[in-house]
Amino acid sequence: MTLQLKDRSLAQLREDFAARGIARYRADQVAGWIYRHGVEDPMEMTNLDLPLRRQLADEWSSRALELETVQRSNDGTRKLVLRTRDGAAVEAVLIPEERRNTLCISTQVGCPLACSFCATGALGFTRNLSTAEIIDQVCRARDLVRGESDEDAERLSNIVFMGMGEPLLNLPKVLEAIRILTDPKAFAMAPRRITVSTAGVVPRIRPLLEVGPINLAVSLHAVRDEVRDELVPLNREYPVEVLLDSLRNEELVSPRRPVFFEYTLMKGVNDSLEDARLLPRLLRGIPSKLNVIPMNPHPDAPYQPPAGDVIDRFTAALHEGGLRVTLRRNRGADIDAACGQLAARKAAPQPPARDS
Ligand code: SAH
Repeated sequence: MTLQLKDRSLAQLREDFAARGIARYRADQVAGWIYRHGVEDPMEMTNLDLPLRRQLADEWSSRALELETVQRSNDGTRKLVLRTRDGAAVEAVLIPEERRNTLCISTQVGCPLACSFCATGALGFTRNLSTAEIIDQVCRARDLVRGESDEDAERLSNIVFMGMGEPLLNLPKVLEAIRILTDPKAFAMAPRRITVSTAGVVPRIRPLLEVGPINLAVSLHAVRDEVRDELVPLNREYPVEVLLDSLRNEELVSPRRPVFFEYTLMKGVNDSLEDARLLPRLLRGIPSKLNVIPMNPHPDAPYQPPAGDVIDRFTAALHEGGLRVTLRRNRGADIDAACGQLAARKAAPQPPARDS
């Protein structure tokens, strides 16, 4: 079995090198080549002696994903379809914004949570991604972006774990990936530029927050258990109050490190003014921001976004209740790259993008 360089944080790689008779500092050199310079072939790592280069080339691999296709939306969003060694499709979405480039990455092939409005949920669950498969989404996207421009502003600036899968159900691999992204000797990203989104696997939130000052996003979507049970079946295990109480008591959550709640707005389901008035009361005591995402419709779910004026009234009521609210535009909807549309589907004709 070949060993995988990108499966290991630097600390781990040093240990594994040492156990195989390779000096620990070599791990730092190898990481520099892979993560800073984008060089993956050990034979090209010119500051390693030739026997070591050969040993690495024989015993280790560094590439976990191949870029298969890139689809470009008319708003500039691009969906990358990547292929694992065993043939699974993984999707990542590159979202250009005025002063940054955000990459949305996947953590599982499919997802076991089966949220009723989510296209990935309808796929069912195949398997967890390895750390290398998580990291390679970033490497392949960076290759793509780097090939286009030398401008720093054009580079990947933010990573969101909001693609396919539930990150907290693949926590050890996700934590190792975050260590690689933030290690000054690897990707050297500021933790604040990384956001991990969870449907609310309560006991695993603390270990996630402890990895470093990354951002936590929580998919809330409903204020009442009857509704959330339907939308997010995980709610039966960790109901709204349990989830919110745990966040209220979480000392790693603070005004400087708020929770980013996501609320996917669905016509006639969770868009009433009553819901909008209840929400600020429920979130009281939790330093937070709330992201309203109009439902991105797709063939696997019966839900639709509310009309524009309903969305406006809903967000206005949240403002009045004292919440900090942003409305997320559904970028990339025309190529099935918007939130909840990642299902590794073959490109099919889509209605025109609604960029609200
Ligand atoms: N499992 C994690 C990570 C997925 S993040 C989580 O649930 O947070 C994807 C985000 O997009 C979540 O907030 C999810 O609820 C939201 N989403 C899923 N399907 C959607 C859809 N069809 N329209 C809009 N948002 C959707």
